[in-house]
Amino acid sequence: MTHKPSLLIVDDVATNIEILAGALKADYRLRIATGGEEALAIAAREPRPDLILLDIMMPGLDGFEVCRRLKSATETQGIPVIFVTARDAEEDEERGLNLGAVDYITKPFSLPTVRARVRNHIELKRKTDLLERLANIDGLTGISNRRRLDEQIEIEWRRCQRTQTPLSLLIADIDLFKDYNDRHGHGAGDICLVTIAKELESSLSRPGDLVARYGGEEFVVILPDTDAEGAFTTAERLRSRVEDVTQKLPGGPVTISIGSATQVPSEPGRVSDLLNAADMQLYRAKSEGRNKICCAC
Ligand code: GH3
Ligand code: MG
Ligand code: MG
Repeated sequence: MTHKPSLLIVDDVATNIEILAGALKADYRLRIATGGEEALAIAAREPRPDLILLDIMMPGLDGFEVCRRLKSATETQGIPVIFVTARDAEEDEERGLNLGAVDYITKPFSLPTVRARVRNHIELKRKTDLLERLANIDGLTGISNRRRLDEQIEIEWRRCQRTQTPLSLLIADIDLFKDYNDRHGHGAGDICLVTIAKELESSLSRPGDLVARYGGEEFVVILPDTDAEGAFTTAERLRSRVEDVTQKLPGGPVTISIGSATQVPSEPGRVSDLLNAADMQLYRAKSEGRNKICCAC
């Protein structure tokens, strides 16, 4: 762990903030909000806090409402919330936990208990984040897996549909990879796969671009807000960089063929049609000699 975890402390009373900050500042990076609106604004921005200590009674938006809004927005719903409050009525506690808070601390609090509870919930959050990351990563190559791809492709399809901008997909497949395995062994084949996956990932430049391992030796690239010409240029860059980087491998260079398809997503259209279109172009690239890009345009 290189960074201290970050906490957001929300309270309208300065002395409460001082007490909590005094107890936690050695182990955490702290941010402070003195009202609900300010708390929501801070939580919505990167870098998001790892945990929020939230006072219930505040003028304006109270803690319950802040918690409800945090839990209903996708970007903030994963942030654990601990209510910190002077109110100890049982129904308040129940209401807070039902709104999705992970814990409830009542004032006057014992600072060692506060520290221990925050530490436990931060640890849990770290494990949840790790699991979430692992669930989205291909075990061999370390790039995104099919699960992550399927999620992201739907998100970008809907976004490009709203903005009426083109969405491009590339399907890349390693050429004659069965031969490569047969000739150099499965271990060398794995190293080749990792080399190509990393090269594809580092060759993409825009923040919305994503490459995922789609299956054995196939990769899919999502290029949002990219027209057919842009997709072709990108595909050509990927193809040529893979050819370069695999020179150094035994039996190199190893090449890839790429099928490309572009569409401004429409209401009746489906992501799977776009994927199929790219796949058909990949088939064409293979039949026209490999180490080549074909485009549905
Ligand atoms: P083409 O140019 O037509 O794509 O020929 P190809 O040999 O690449 O295609 P084919 O689909 O016949 O073979 C794919 C090969 O990819 C088969 C398999 O040995 C290899 N492969 C798939 N996944 C892995 C993997 O995880 N590790 C290794 N080493 N090889 C894999
Ligand atoms: Mg292949
Ligand atoms: Mg294949």
